[in-house]
Amino acid sequence: MSEPQDIEPAERRDPEQREQRGLSQPLEVRSPHGDAKSPAVEGVPEAERKPREAIFGLHDVMVSYNKKPAVRGVSFDIGKNEITALIGPSGCGKSTLIRCLNRMNDLIPGATVEGEVLYHGQNLYGPQIDAVEVRKRIGMVFQKPNPFPKSIYDNIAFGPRVLGMKGDMDETVESALTHAALWDEVKDRLKTNAFGMSGGQQQRLCIARALAVEPDVILMDEPCSALDPISTGKIEDLMLSLKDEYSIVIVTHNMQQAARVSDKTAFFTVELSEDEHRTGRVVEFADTEKLFTNPDDPRTEAYVTGKVG
Ligand code: ADP
Repeated sequence: MSEPQDIEPAERRDPEQREQRGLSQPLEVRSPHGDAKSPAVEGVPEAERKPREAIFGLHDVMVSYNKKPAVRGVSFDIGKNEITALIGPSGCGKSTLIRCLNRMNDLIPGATVEGEVLYHGQNLYGPQIDAVEVRKRIGMVFQKPNPFPKSIYDNIAFGPRVLGMKGDMDETVESALTHAALWDEVKDRLKTNAFGMSGGQQQRLCIARALAVEPDVILMDEPCSALDPISTGKIEDLMLSLKDEYSIVIVTHNMQQAARVSDKTAFFTVELSEDEHRTGRVVEFADTEKLFTNPDDPRTEAYVTGKVG
């Protein structure tokens, strides 16, 4: 199926609609689909051809729950059309940090975000920014597949309908399912309940559902931890196929997975304060290959070699 020609979200095309939704200051984001591809340069590795473009800039970010920091001092850039993995032991703030990339922490009572989270150079927490619009641009897939109790078709159509997106819904559904490598498996049963799918298919459906609203970034919080190895392999293949069009951030407890799919990795650890409070810190952020084979910090080396858990 061909790419949709008109991929501008409805409210960006129609200022009146945007005004009604309180989007006086739209996020200035170019569509991931509309960018011209760089011409191929023979013999030069891709990474050396294109300057790395940051989609997020994190500057001294701290997220607290009830004024106690869960993770602090986080500063690194997240690259466009890259897969960035967040790894580290349980409780080091990986989920907390990924949630602050689409303002999901806004929904948690007592959660506060300090420091600067830039998205395409704009302050994601600026007063003009509409959190609903942010969550549309920056989709999220969770640990446990969470399809709605609806048909496969209606799961995908839900977001575009709620957002009043124009265009042929059948095409939107087919495009999203095709991008999520699910179309061939479900095209003959689109009207059946999504709960009849396997766990791996349900997770790809959730990815398709995120894609249907034409996001820019997909955040994945342990997307494979409830899946068998074959389904995990399919999601990993899918991530690699999606990164040409989207930027992906993944939290994973599976170091092999981070090593297989990601371009960049941030390794977090937990620091214990004198009053026994645990706070997550970034130990090292680097190219994944470097972080796993030649890390700068001995704590990273101990973790990636399995000496500490
Ligand atoms: P990770 O994803 O690395 O396992 P989390 O981000 O889930 O770590 O948790 C980091 C810290 O924040 C933990 O101490 C956890 O108990 C705390 N935390 C996480 N979510 C909440 C919440 N909703 N309310 C209060 N504390 C939380």
